[in-house]
Amino acid sequence: MIKFLDLKKINEQYQEELKEACARVIDSGFYILGQEVKAFENEFAQYCNTNYCLGVANGLDALTLILRAYLEMGIMQKGDEVIVPSNTYIASILAISENGLVPVLVEPNIDTFNLNPKLIEASITEKTKAILTVHLYGQVTGMDEINLIAKQHNLKVIEDCAQAHGACYKGRKVGSLGDAAGFSFYPGKNLGALGDGGAVTTNDPELVQIIEALRNYGSHEKYKNKYKGINSRLDEMQAAMLRVKLGYLNREIKDRQNIASKYLNEIENQLIELPCVDNFSAHVWHLFVLKTSHRESLLNYMNSNSVQTLIHYPIAPHNQLAYQEWKARTFHISEKIHDKVISLPLYPYMSLEQQNKIITLVNNFHG
Ligand SMILES: *Cc1c(COP(=O)(O)O)cnc(C)c1O
Repeated sequence: MIKFLDLKKINEQYQEELKEACARVIDSGFYILGQEVKAFENEFAQYCNTNYCLGVANGLDALTLILRAYLEMGIMQKGDEVIVPSNTYIASILAISENGLVPVLVEPNIDTFNLNPKLIEASITEKTKAILTVHLYGQVTGMDEINLIAKQHNLKVIEDCAQAHGACYKGRKVGSLGDAAGFSFYPGKNLGALGDGGAVTTNDPELVQIIEALRNYGSHEKYKNKYKGINSRLDEMQAAMLRVKLGYLNREIKDRQNIASKYLNEIENQLIELPCVDNFSAHVWHLFVLKTSHRESLLNYMNSNSVQTLIHYPIAPHNQLAYQEWKARTFHISEKIHDKVISLPLYPYMSLEQQNKIITLVNNFHG
């Protein structure tokens, strides 16, 4: 059986270091907002080339807290609108509605799966305050166009980097390409903890100061609460695990890119459309997503041949029960994407034999 993602195999690579880090935290006697979190924040800010990084409890909270801080700063008011891709993972959208802001869905480019800058302007109103762009599946969005539109309309640009740690746009890392960015360290992400975790990166000192309080009950100083904050902290144990894994991130990205490049070169089947990339450093291959009109049969065929194959994602956000207010809307491109996409296993340390088995199977698929 080839698993979709073999986390045991990945974490085995550095299990000694993980165990040492774990023991270091146990022995420290300090478990929340201590030296490991501080050190990881510095190391990750340096990695992303931003002035600041703040650890939080998960990726959803990272995005939610950025928007919440803009509300506290008076840059946004409840009821204001935030543009977000219509085909993103639901968490990007939840972060907006959670704050009493209105998600405005904009269709992606069907080839890159990322926000189509040409469609953004038609959705901008007086209430629009930000563009929340998502580097979906690990591929960077066309940031120059998005930043230009944002500048012309005085909008904040927030990056959802949950799937794209380390991806580069014109030599600059994601997390540093807008006004603020949210990362997830959910175990299955390209930089994954051994539990939940997340981070905000930014160069904005005021934003950092507010989020630092918001993540800790709204308090900068113990027992003094400036905001009605929440509890959303990265813990010492996860920070220590992430410090180990950050050291391997570039190597693992290379590995993912090599496998993706092999798939792109060797998969050949009329029934299958390969993912589209215009710049390899801009894609870190969190997911390798194909399009096919024969999805159900490809899914069954792969799984019955012991290759775990999944769909990201089967239901478009506007068709989710959680957003019944959008039930009558149609988003043609998203719907096409949600009907056709299927993801092949791709992860670092996957054996050549496994890669070859997947390629041969896909090439022999007859619908
Ligand atoms: C995983 C993910 C999130 C949420 O991250 P969590 O750590 O699971 O809360 C947000 N956005 C995208 C695009 C994601 O893939």
